[in-house]
Amino acid sequence: MTPAPPGESFTADVLAIAAHRDDVEQTCGGTLLRMAARGLRTAILDLTAGEAGTRGTAEDRAREAREAANLLGVGWREALDLPDGAIENTLENRVKIVRVLRQLRPRVVILPYWQARHPDHAIVASLGYQACFLSGLAKIETAAKSHRPFKIVYASLYADVRPTFIVDITPFIEQRHSALMAYRSQYANQAAGGGLFVPQDEIRERTFAEARHYGLLAGVKYGEPFVQKEVGLVDDLTLLPVQSI
Ligand SMILES: [Zn+2]
Repeated sequence: MTPAPPGESFTADVLAIAAHRDDVEQTCGGTLLRMAARGLRTAILDLTAGEAGTRGTAEDRAREAREAANLLGVGWREALDLPDGAIENTLENRVKIVRVLRQLRPRVVILPYWQARHPDHAIVASLGYQACFLSGLAKIETAAKSHRPFKIVYASLYADVRPTFIVDITPFIEQRHSALMAYRSQYANQAAGGGLFVPQDEIRERTFAEARHYGLLAGVKYGEPFVQKEVGLVDDLTLLPVQSI
C-alpha cells in the first residue's frame, strides 16, 4: 500500500466496505484495480476480523488482507472489530463506520448488495447505507467534520439480480485472482473445511466464469456487476455506452 505523504492523512476517492476480509477481492477487486489505474485513490474497510472462519485464524487473515491490498493497489485498508457471523445494524456500529467515512472522505462507497445468502452481507448493505447518511449529519458528533459520500453503489456479483451497470475488468482479472489467492489460509487445498470449500483449481474456473458472464452482458470479456438505486441522468444520447443490436 502507498502510505499518505508525511503530515497528510489519507483520503479516498472510492471506499469499498465489506463484512469479511476477501469479500472485496471476490466482488469488486477488479473495479478497485481499474479505479487505481485511472489514478483514483482507493480504500477498503472490512468490518470483521474473520475470527469465525472455518479455516485459518484472524491473524492469518490480517496478514493475507495486507498482501491482497497491495496486489489491489489500494492506499488504505483496515478492519473493524464487529463480530464475524453476527454483524448487527446498531447505532454503535454505524458510528464506528462514520468515523472511517469522515477520515477517508470518499466520493463513492461500494457496499454489498442487500439480498444475500450470508446474513452479514445483507446487513452490511443497510448498516453501510445508514452510516453514509449519518456521516453527513453535523449533529452526529465525532472528532472529525461531517462528510456524506456522493454515490453509493452495490456490488451484486453474488445476488440474483440484473445489474445496473458493469465495470470492465478484463485487463485486471489475473491481478484480481492473485489478490484472492493471497488468502492462502482460506483457499489453498487443505483438510479443514474440505467438504465446505471449493478446491483451489476450481476457484479460478468459477470466478473467471462469473466475470465472463457479467462481461458478456456489457460486451466486454470480464466484468463486475453493480446496482445503483437511483435513476441515472443522461446528457448526450450519442455517448451512451454498450451497443443495443
Ligand atoms: Zn463474506
